[in-house]
Amino acid sequence: MSDDTKPVENGARNRHIILTSHPTGHQKPIALKWGAASAKERGPVVGTLGAGGQRNAIGAHSGSYALYRALAVASGALSPEHKPDLTNTTPATTIGPNPQWSDPSKIVSLDPFGHTVTESFAEHIAAGLDIRPTIAVTKARLTVPELLGEISSGRLHPDGSILLESGEANVTKVAIEPVWHLPGVAQRFGTAEAELRRTLFEQTGGMFSELVTRPDLKVFLPPIGGVTVYIFGDLAAIADPACHVACRVHDECSGSDVFGSDICTCRPYLIHGIDGCIKQAQENGVGIIVYNRKEGRALGEVTKFLVYNARKRQAGGDRADAYFERTECVAGVQDVRFQELMPDPLHWLGVTRIDRFISMSNMKYDAMVQQGIEIVERIAIPDDMIPEDARVEMEAKKAAGYFSEGTAPAPEELSDTRGRDLQDY
Ligand SMILES: [Zn+2]
Repeated sequence: MSDDTKPVENGARNRHIILTSHPTGHQKPIALKWGAASAKERGPVVGTLGAGGQRNAIGAHSGSYALYRALAVASGALSPEHKPDLTNTTPATTIGPNPQWSDPSKIVSLDPFGHTVTESFAEHIAAGLDIRPTIAVTKARLTVPELLGEISSGRLHPDGSILLESGEANVTKVAIEPVWHLPGVAQRFGTAEAELRRTLFEQTGGMFSELVTRPDLKVFLPPIGGVTVYIFGDLAAIADPACHVACRVHDECSGSDVFGSDICTCRPYLIHGIDGCIKQAQENGVGIIVYNRKEGRALGEVTKFLVYNARKRQAGGDRADAYFERTECVAGVQDVRFQELMPDPLHWLGVTRIDRFISMSNMKYDAMVQQGIEIVERIAIPDDMIPEDARVEMEAKKAAGYFSEGTAPAPEELSDTRGRDLQDY
């Protein structure tokens, strides 16, 4: 019988299979008081395996990348006892604390102290507990080719600080791993915590049995993609009511964002968002791009490409009136991005008002407002930025309630908007 109350010592890898799923009476999870005013009072999120019975989180760090870590351990490339040397890894700029950090209803899907663990929990770490940051804050210079065109056409003006003559932009960038406080997530979705835990357990094929056997563990590190935040301009502007905030919340679309596929508006809208963020930062404000790893409306890229084929091969070809229907035929639903958790990174940054919301999504707008973030103005993508084959998506979305400066197309007009045939790619 192994002693699962103590951290596993270096060099003495415990080869017993420890079923953490059942309370043994020996487990002593580190106390965690979600929504507490200070990091000390809140306590650290402990999700590392070496912490043994002191773990207070279900799942593993690094989201879906935990599986690659497992391969590294299985192949002998990584010692399972490795503890990170966190020297010089602290945030490149200070973020928070903000009042939202101590409101348990405001932040439920990330650890607001995730970037301060080396400082906030230094005593625990010194005592040998393996605590990992779930947020990292650094600085970067972005080279976005489209910005050069904006500069040469006079729509953007280099200032030597936020936007350089070379067309490069300076940003603070923040990587956030998901940390779900299950009672808060359940509340956000209007369901009972027990129901949420059971469904998560079942729909992951029983991967995380503690979801149903350890109700004392309230935090879950889900195996999903995280969030990256790109901040243009001075972060301090967020807390200044006289300063304005521009923001685009963008859901990942590798095909368009990275490779320029023209079937959707993702990259052009992202560029329009970056453009708006730079302008806002230059006008005594700050611009924020929140990039969520939610590929293909969080249905994944295989589903997305299957839908593209189904759209283009259906009788009558790809057309706006059947846009959502084709997704629903393949996936069973139109969209599983569920924007309910989306405002959390903005709460974390202290945002209470977005002056220019660079998005047409009614779902994102509703989630922001529901979560108490005021939206002053909504910015649509300019018509000349919409790629040819993306008209089907755009018209279908407008008809379904997306914000538009013009009038939404009538249902009978939707079938007139056609996409390219599959053979004419
Ligand atoms: Zn896209």
